[in-house]
Amino acid sequence: MIDVHVVVIGAGPGGYAAAFLAADLGLKTALVDPEVNPGGVCVYRGCIPSKALLHVANLLREARHADAWGVHFGEPAVDLVKLRAFKDNVVKRLTGGTGLLAKSRKVQYLQGRGALVDAHTLTVKLVTGGEETIRFKHAIVATGSVPVVPPSLRVDDRRVMDSTTALDLPDVPKSLLVVGGGYIGLELGSVYAALGSAVSVVEMTDGLLPGADRDLVDVLAKSITASMKNVWLKTSVTKMAAEPAGIRVTFDGQPEQLFDRVLVAVGRRPNASVPGLERTKVALDRRGFIVHDEQMRTAEPSIFAIGDVAGEPMLAHKASHEGRTAVEVIAGHKAAFEPRAIPAVVFTDPELAWAGLTEAQAQRDGRKVAVAKFPWAASGRALTLDRVDGLTKLIVDPSNERILGVGLVGPNAGELIAEGVLAIEMGANVTDLKLTIHPHPTLTETLMEAAEVFFGQATHVYKPRRT
Ligand code: NAD
Repeated sequence: MIDVHVVVIGAGPGGYAAAFLAADLGLKTALVDPEVNPGGVCVYRGCIPSKALLHVANLLREARHADAWGVHFGEPAVDLVKLRAFKDNVVKRLTGGTGLLAKSRKVQYLQGRGALVDAHTLTVKLVTGGEETIRFKHAIVATGSVPVVPPSLRVDDRRVMDSTTALDLPDVPKSLLVVGGGYIGLELGSVYAALGSAVSVVEMTDGLLPGADRDLVDVLAKSITASMKNVWLKTSVTKMAAEPAGIRVTFDGQPEQLFDRVLVAVGRRPNASVPGLERTKVALDRRGFIVHDEQMRTAEPSIFAIGDVAGEPMLAHKASHEGRTAVEVIAGHKAAFEPRAIPAVVFTDPELAWAGLTEAQAQRDGRKVAVAKFPWAASGRALTLDRVDGLTKLIVDPSNERILGVGLVGPNAGELIAEGVLAIEMGANVTDLKLTIHPHPTLTETLMEAAEVFFGQATHVYKPRRT
């Protein structure tokens, strides 16, 4: 029997950030997860390995593009064994690090699966065999999410992949169908396209990345359309069947076709399947998310929920901040999770990122906003990179000129968005951004110049302010 102040169930970026902070605050802490080290889906089978592969995909694209600058590399030869080893080693180094950090902080890490007995007791079936009982004052449920696979897309064949099996990079299929034009479909589809697969993307709605502003998506869609064989919008898969020669896919709106492999990436759903949760007062909403307040506390006072299992957006950085909030509340601090902006990044080429209010959301809410856009064709830095296909936009409250949202598309948009998040969080107005000296020549200047556009005074864009 182990007695702790806090037990965290699930060691993804939400769970391990929570456990580490709890230990840092002097609370006796246990962390439970079936993997050998903390990391969760993000580090073992998601964000991290996919970014390692996307880095290589970008290099391949850049090398091909270098022809235009008079540098000829020839056709690249890809050694899949070595590429897999690079990706696996990234994961190993990171999870080895989190394992060591847990030890150094004296977080008791139990490799196994937890089941709740009551609101203060958890049993853990250890991977090495046997069972351990934990008595806790507080538990944090951080069990993440799992892929959604609708019945029409359920085929028991290893050629039909989810994001995990696609990341294993079993081979480079001649043809790949990606079902779902969201984060995973576009990121992993881009990897396979760069490696040489003829990739077709099928998306049910009338556009890629339904959550993002269309002017940003349009820029990305142009490059996706150029690198993929097909992008079919407003199209659904009605049937899939495994045949010796491939996976036969029937669509509504397209003739049926045979593909070497299929990647299904049509969304994720919360994973609240902790046995015994029903013995507590913890409640789920209609979609299966654990209901909680802004302090991350569930209907059971001793139990908190964070990350994907606690609601959208299902993003690692949201999970870790929620985790830290839950721990601060447990430690008796005055804390609540009330961010003004949670950034979203799609790591395609170009990258697409946004934070805070989108223009589409403002329209849906009937909220009056001003929008200032700076096209990267006017950025010296973008020109030096031969990447003028970017756009930076600010969504502004016209009554007080506060920045409510920032959207970016272009290489490194995922890094640039952090400045937008800070601006929104700090309640910065457009003048603050305009007056902040940005280094030249960098892509960060596009944020400053978008602010100048707002006033009709951008150095590199002639667009007088409409009065
Ligand atoms: P998603 O919600 O981003 O995209 C799913 C897409 O599939 C949507 O565009 C949807 O309209 C479409 N779709 C749904 N059913 C369909 C069908 N039957 N046929 C065709 N299209 C269909 O989901 P995802 O790509 O599976 O990713 C899951 C979650 O993982 C994301 O919501 C995100 O929270 C997280 N994620 C984040 C990142 C990142 O931050 N860069 C990367 C990967 C995943």
